[in-house]
Amino acid sequence: MARDNKRGRLLDGKLVAKALKESIKKEVAEMVDRGEEGPHLAAVIVGNDPASETYVASKEKAARGVGMVSSVYRYPEDTTEKELMDVIDFLNRDPEVTGFIVQLPLPKHINEDKIIERIKPSKDVDGFNPVNVGKMAIGQPGFVSATPAGIMEILRYYKIDTEGKNCVVLGRSNIVGSPMSILMSKKSNPGNATVTLCHSKTENLDEITRQADILITAIGSPQFVKADMVKEGAVVIDVGIHRIEDKSSKKGYKLVGDVDFDAVKEKASYITPVPGGVGPMTIASLLNNTLKAYKSEYYG
Ligand code: NAP
Repeated sequence: MARDNKRGRLLDGKLVAKALKESIKKEVAEMVDRGEEGPHLAAVIVGNDPASETYVASKEKAARGVGMVSSVYRYPEDTTEKELMDVIDFLNRDPEVTGFIVQLPLPKHINEDKIIERIKPSKDVDGFNPVNVGKMAIGQPGFVSATPAGIMEILRYYKIDTEGKNCVVLGRSNIVGSPMSILMSKKSNPGNATVTLCHSKTENLDEITRQADILITAIGSPQFVKADMVKEGAVVIDVGIHRIEDKSSKKGYKLVGDVDFDAVKEKASYITPVPGGVGPMTIASLLNNTLKAYKSEYYG
């Protein structure tokens, strides 16, 4: 049987991120040309977690790439909660810092919720502070967590019709699954979907995922979603990112998502690859939030 050309069309996050970053870069260049400082994104990192180091390095590189000022505040593993609070207070007050992120996870002795709450909402470009989460939940303008914001941008870019569709979100984390389910249910475009949010206690998961016109996976389980869990023609957005052993690769591993990509792409109408799907959009959205913070779009 001839293969439907539209089947498994890639939702190319790299391409969408490039377009978004180019438009940010242009705007920042215009600001600098006018003699302004332009946006300054700062990152705070506590301890020596290699994954956190990698994430912060890529955020720093991306910020510089669009012409923003970028700085990283590094503190040792044994930094106390009080000391970190003082750093947050300093960055909250520093007029030269447009927005900042505190790279998670933090060492166990520091309460992440308290730290996130301490970040001034107008500088909370990760969109994790409860004020920004609340604004998103009631549909008021504010900073939306970068990964869900990036997914919305992909849907917008590819003009995916979400109105009235069944959207199933797998995973209910505060940074991905929960905000994603809220955004998709909003009276907006993309949005206006009928949303089901699934988690580890969900019964008959396969039956639910098979109803999804749009399936968004953020469970942190490599290649968990198999082809028989997906409806023919569904749009599949894979947030997961995992290293699995691959002896045929020079590095000895390869990156995969929560979705069994090779099998699912044969059934999906659109699908995000891993890598190159949601990942690049997360950083681009963080830069976009920083630009919005600079322009005081949400807070006077
Ligand atoms: P998380 O905090 O680990 O939460 C995982 C969620 O999935 C939980 O709600 C959990 O349910 C649910 N879950 C786990 N196993 C399940 C199963 N078998 N069936 C149904 N639900 C299940 O995850 P996260 O921080 O959102 O991250 C998810 C994945 O996305 C990870 O692979 C992470 O590396 C990746 N990620 C990628 C980006 C990016 O930029 N691409 C950004 C963030 C995260 P319970 O609540 O019941 O435990």
